[in-house]
Amino acid sequence: MIPPSLKKALQESLNSDIKSITGVSGGSINRAARLELASGKLCFVKWNETADPDMFVKEQKGLEALTAAGTMLCIPEVYTTGRTTEDTGFLVQEFIDEGRPKKDSARNFGRELARLHQNNAKQFGFVHDNYIGRLPQSNQAHANWTDFFIEERLAPQLQMAVDAGKLGSQTNHHFEQLYEQLPDLLPKEPPALLHGDLWGGNYFYDGSGQATVYDPAVYYGHREIELAFTHLFGGFEANFYHSYENITPLEPGFSDRKDIYNLYPLLVHANLFGGSYARQVRSIVKRF
Ligand code: ADP
Repeated sequence: MIPPSLKKALQESLNSDIKSITGVSGGSINRAARLELASGKLCFVKWNETADPDMFVKEQKGLEALTAAGTMLCIPEVYTTGRTTEDTGFLVQEFIDEGRPKKDSARNFGRELARLHQNNAKQFGFVHDNYIGRLPQSNQAHANWTDFFIEERLAPQLQMAVDAGKLGSQTNHHFEQLYEQLPDLLPKEPPALLHGDLWGGNYFYDGSGQATVYDPAVYYGHREIELAFTHLFGGFEANFYHSYENITPLEPGFSDRKDIYNLYPLLVHANLFGGSYARQVRSIVKRF
């Protein structure tokens, strides 16, 4: 299941023989496997034959930024990234065993996400661009959130969707109307360090019940966009939100703003996967 050129590159890069390889499912973009090295050490590898060459390097840097924030979220350590002779990119991380949540797991997760978001910057953006899924995500700095949200998030994805015929050009008009209202609709907050792609498929609880987050698209943004995305596919546990808000309450009216923030992941999903996501975008933006 793993191409021979990838196995060879992994052995070279890890400087170890690989004893066994077991496929891991669940990814939406890449293929993944668990590696057991000759020493018995377990690693998690993901790879992609067609993604941009720096995609996994940016993912590594994102994971490192989350680690440097010093929360008690479990962030897998990155062992190596590289490319095979056939130009397949790969990323090797610490393998984390998925466990079952304990009584306080969701509460602790909410608290630690709040702590992550307490890492602030002067500007919205990040030191480098990165990827959301496999789509480029520009992180050029802006002093205010609405400019960042429009220019670095909504407009490029909207353009991509219109160019691909997934949304009609009349949708541009609705977005223009929304853009004008955004400064009045969204509360002002300092740029917060975000995981950037936090949905149910990008975290699990490890064997000790600690929340492990992975597959990030890190930047300094408005923390409400992170919270909004956690709600998009059904929401996290109630205790997660209670403990988040205990530390860092949200401004009143957040539930009315969620759909605005989720236009970004919905546009990204429309561009990546098509399906009904474009319809959801249209029905939200028409309200403005
Ligand atoms: P993709 O980039 O394709 O979306 P993910 O990074 O989300 O892939 O990983 C796919 C799946 O692999 C996850 O849903 C999770 O179950 C598992 N996984 C991710 N990181 C690790 C890890 N470090 N250790 C063990 N399993 C992991």
